[in-house]
Amino acid sequence: MRRIDLSNFQVATSETARDINRRIVLNLIRTHQPISRADLARHSGLQRSTVSVIAEQLIKERWITEGANGHTPRGRRPTFLHLNKERVGIIGINVRPVTTTLALADLDANFLAQDSMATPQNPQEFLTEVVPRVRKLITARPGLTCEGIGRILPGRVDLNTKQLVFAPNLGWSDFDLKKPLEKATRLPVEVENAANSCALSEICFGRRAEGLSNLVIVTVSEGIGCGLILNHQLVQGATGTAGEFGHAALIHDGLECSCGNRGCWEMYASNTAAVRYYSQSGSTSRGRRAETVENTISFDHLLRLADQGDAKAVDALEQMAKYLGLGIAPLIAGLAPDMIVIVGEVTRAWNKVGPIIKETVRRHSFTRAETQIVPSDPITQPRLRGAIALVLLKHFGAPAVA
Ligand SMILES: [Zn+2]
Repeated sequence: MRRIDLSNFQVATSETARDINRRIVLNLIRTHQPISRADLARHSGLQRSTVSVIAEQLIKERWITEGANGHTPRGRRPTFLHLNKERVGIIGINVRPVTTTLALADLDANFLAQDSMATPQNPQEFLTEVVPRVRKLITARPGLTCEGIGRILPGRVDLNTKQLVFAPNLGWSDFDLKKPLEKATRLPVEVENAANSCALSEICFGRRAEGLSNLVIVTVSEGIGCGLILNHQLVQGATGTAGEFGHAALIHDGLECSCGNRGCWEMYASNTAAVRYYSQSGSTSRGRRAETVENTISFDHLLRLADQGDAKAVDALEQMAKYLGLGIAPLIAGLAPDMIVIVGEVTRAWNKVGPIIKETVRRHSFTRAETQIVPSDPITQPRLRGAIALVLLKHFGAPAVA
């Protein structure tokens, strides 16, 4: 049951109702295209005349177009409506501690062009380097109108000030994420934590999670973040920092983390942790000494070695998987989600890590939650898609923010 927050509410005006109906229609066209006006009325429960007015407005604004005539057993042949993919472009920016990736996508969140760069040490340098790249992406498809930029970060964003308030792996803090980029590009900018964006993207565009009401995304990269959708709502908490389970202490008095805490989950289950397991195992793979490996190996390299059967690399992944399971078990016990989706390069080795994660969870689960644990498909580039989703959802309707 949805409750109305009586300390902070907005009375629905006819304009609000129009806006909501417009989002409903646009979203139905996105998910059912090509679709006739009659079917839109049937799916939405709106009057046929209301659907027609909204459709005309959307055609006028070039969000949708009319396509071929459909076939019905008798009577008039309806014209189908579909998204006008030729019209809108969206820029997505995925900032990670080492590399930043950028993409231009269409209305179906398909990537049209991509770029990447090394992530600079400070946010000012970042702005200087990223702006020309954004402009280049936009000019690559001059026919498209760019609707905005979605920017995701490995940290938490203050709900009011839009400042980055917690990003220990990036090392940036206290700067405005939104206005300087908006000023430099003259485009609206949406900013959000990577795990939250992936959660929104997954329930809106994911093949398996679409429409689920309780979903947890676990992004596994240099650190670990969680995005929570509970009762159809994205949970941000009072400060916007909800979901930082990566910095919950898993091991008492364990390894010191960059956040200042000890024994954080991500110190044991992130890509960085797996690389540490590998280098500390004293592998002399390919004749190299362990300390050399420690300085040079990347997580990608580790995955390749494991794929080739390198025992030390496989062992490092197995340790990582065990700790992933140990951290996921309390998430399931506490939140009982329908599904947990794991996002990150580690999913490329799902045949090795998936069974260990599931078995560890099983051994530490005492509730009756029947949560599915699934990997995201790395080919879909879920983080970049999450950045695109931030802008798309402004127009297509997002789960309410709790
Ligand atoms: Zn920490």
